[in-house]
Amino acid sequence: GFKCGIVGLPNVGKSTLFNALTQSGVGSANYPFCTIEPNVGIVPINDSRLDELAKIVNPQKILSTTMKFVDIAGLVKGASKGEGLGNKFLTNIRETDAIIHVVRAFDDDDIIHVSKKISPLDDIEIINTELILADFDMLENLYQKALKKIKSGQKDGAPLKNLLTKILSVLETGNSVRTLSFDEEELKLLKGFQLLTIKPVLYVANVNENGFIDNAYLKIIEKFAHSENTQTVTICAKTEAEIAELNKDEKQEFLSEMGQSKSGLDKLIKAGYQLLGLQTYFTAGVQEVRAWTINTGDSVSQAAGKIHGDFEKGFIRAQTVSFSDFIEFGGEKGAKDAGKLRSEGKEYIVQDGDVIHFLFSV
Ligand code: GDP
Repeated sequence: GFKCGIVGLPNVGKSTLFNALTQSGVGSANYPFCTIEPNVGIVPINDSRLDELAKIVNPQKILSTTMKFVDIAGLVKGASKGEGLGNKFLTNIRETDAIIHVVRAFDDDDIIHVSKKISPLDDIEIINTELILADFDMLENLYQKALKKIKSGQKDGAPLKNLLTKILSVLETGNSVRTLSFDEEELKLLKGFQLLTIKPVLYVANVNENGFIDNAYLKIIEKFAHSENTQTVTICAKTEAEIAELNKDEKQEFLSEMGQSKSGLDKLIKAGYQLLGLQTYFTAGVQEVRAWTINTGDSVSQAAGKIHGDFEKGFIRAQTVSFSDFIEFGGEKGAKDAGKLRSEGKEYIVQDGDVIHFLFSV
């Protein structure tokens, strides 16, 4: 599954956000909710299309797709040199697919800020600097190895050295590796490095209940995120934690009272999906209607492999109906009669919302 790490300075609202995310899954339909470890949670992803499919199919079960979230505490100034939880948090980040960087955008005299003043740009820079330093230290060691390789006449030494030179010079100016672009050969080498600052990032501006408009902190965060070509999601973590405890109907009522159609968490998860280049397809049988997460651009045989490794090997064809056709024509049979059911071979690139019925041999 895909995993997002929640980072940020102490006291910015990471745990509040993490708890809201994991709590939001507790009441969800048929999902065996769990927090794997105190700081790791599996969160079911709300998708109203599942309910629409279920109305037609009347399945025994409805299963959401999920995303993993990790609350990564302990990131303080000097962490890359072992301060605070130092290396543990770096390892935690290394294992994630994307980073959610929470920044404090609220005033509250009762909540101490580690730097004694609220300055979103400084806060972002402290975190990013630690990640940049961690990457820098690791690559410098590699660079020495590349030099040795060249000395001893190994021919993979030179391309390694060239790539490292390119990356180190960017890190040296205080910028993240994600600001660079790479060719295919470089990307192959990069895979082994497990860099922190190459991971996609999105910023969460944590505001007070009334902090969504006319908020100077928020504007600063948005401007910075824009300069990095990434997104800001604005939420009030405290409110989200309260909403997360409501049931589905109460939640809807609460949100419409606030003039919103989606909770901040739903917005965050959607942005996370985009950031990771993910999309959803469905299987819709009488036993279960279920959502599955795949990479945008995945072939239908790769999509089958998400269900079971053997499905990918034994794949024959995929009877495919788009979500809107499935709804419009009242299910697979209706879609077939209307000529909207496509029989796709294994190279077919799955489209978001496809309802797929796999034919396979075992
Ligand atoms: P962490 O150290 O980043 O995990 O921060 P916490 O989630 O523990 O939050 C630190 C304190 O800030 C807690 O007392 C929270 O209740 C409070 N807090 C979190 N979000 C908000 C918010 O949006 N507004 C206000 N006023 N306080 C918040």
